[in-house]
Amino acid sequence: MDGAADALVSIDDGALVVDGSGRIVFCGAFDELPEDHESWTVVDHRPGYIFPGFIDTHVHFPQTFIGDAYGGGQLLEWLNACIFPSESQFEDPEFAAAAAVAFCDRRIAAGTTQAMVFGSAFPQAQDALFEETRRRGLRVVSGRGVQTTGPESAARLITSEEDAVRLVSEEIEKWHGADTGDVDTALLHVAVVPRFSLAVTTETLKNLGELYDSVRDRGVYFHSHLNENDRPGTGEVATTKEMYQVDSYLDTYDGKFLPGSKVGGKSFLGKRSILAHAVHCQDVELARMAETGTSISHCPTSQQFLGSGTMPWKRTVASGVTVAIGSDYGGGDEFLLTRVLGDAFKVHISEAGDDGISLHPAELLFTGTLAGARALDMENRIGNFDDGKEADFVVVDPQAWPPLHGLIEKGVRSPDPDLARDQTLFALLMAMREPAITEVYVQGRRIDVA
Ligand SMILES: [Zn+2]
Repeated sequence: MDGAADALVSIDDGALVVDGSGRIVFCGAFDELPEDHESWTVVDHRPGYIFPGFIDTHVHFPQTFIGDAYGGGQLLEWLNACIFPSESQFEDPEFAAAAAVAFCDRRIAAGTTQAMVFGSAFPQAQDALFEETRRRGLRVVSGRGVQTTGPESAARLITSEEDAVRLVSEEIEKWHGADTGDVDTALLHVAVVPRFSLAVTTETLKNLGELYDSVRDRGVYFHSHLNENDRPGTGEVATTKEMYQVDSYLDTYDGKFLPGSKVGGKSFLGKRSILAHAVHCQDVELARMAETGTSISHCPTSQQFLGSGTMPWKRTVASGVTVAIGSDYGGGDEFLLTRVLGDAFKVHISEAGDDGISLHPAELLFTGTLAGARALDMENRIGNFDDGKEADFVVVDPQAWPPLHGLIEKGVRSPDPDLARDQTLFALLMAMREPAITEVYVQGRRIDVA
């Protein structure tokens, strides 16, 4: 993360060349293009900016219509009052199909070319998500949200132990790598996704752990929530540790889910595992995530919205764990990742004392792009404009969003060219809104809102 500023590349009059297979073959100054470029198709985006596609490492499909929900409380009350009833609507296939269209539209509008999507409990809703994602040409990693226990409001989302394993297994067989038949080239991937430890039993963790262990080598992902809300007495962290009688919340995902953190099954941790939030981690949990290559999806907008606190930035990054960004929509009320990165800037500059940090705009951009690719174990395919990567990018035209245009045209810039560049990048990240994202490409193919 410290190297982000040094690694930042900004080219004033740049060219991005994409070959017929959707791969980047050149990224550099326009006047350094090879001689034969005059025969190529050239799309002139001046005076716009081209960014790598944004990567959302935590967003909830069945919460498409429940962002900004008032639940009169923090995480557990909000789940009970707003989320479980809303997610139950996805049992209706027509409702789920309409939600899949709306969800993809919101992703495209926000330039979110890849996403780890927390799925619906209902297989027909997951079919709708994968089908619509494929139809639109987006990337996705997703899996049905597994619940085997919970309050009455979650009754329709809860399955038997047998169905929990069967449905996840069927989803993997049906959708993992389904678009190309090869996980290394596919746009569609499946994850094993228990909602969180409080929504499942030790038997579920054991059964899903065995399933995950049997599909790890096929590049299947693992995704869940970790250490999100720690309100004294009724918070998720204390409740989880009490229910499982474990030393740490992470132990429940690490096979050590029996009382006293005794081993009861296989671990879910690894380089294709992403845990959302990680606001209240012990040092031993951060070290274990770093050791296993497990990544964190940092969701500052959601953490503000649900009163969950602030993930300690310096301490978390210093542990060596990869930190990528997540909207956590609808726990967060923003889909656009640059707004979420803006919240990251605000909450971390406001951390107490020496913990406070003014994040460099290059760190923010990295967290919203290449760090997401790294967290998804896809750094060889996406995340920036290195030669040979797949061409996922967004075009940002300040003229399409007057408040941004004003900042770019009339803002004061330092005489130091590096600082001036950083100031412009910061203005773009902070002031960008959906209307400024005028074009979105995945593998070099333009995709549009329906
Ligand atoms: Zn979430």
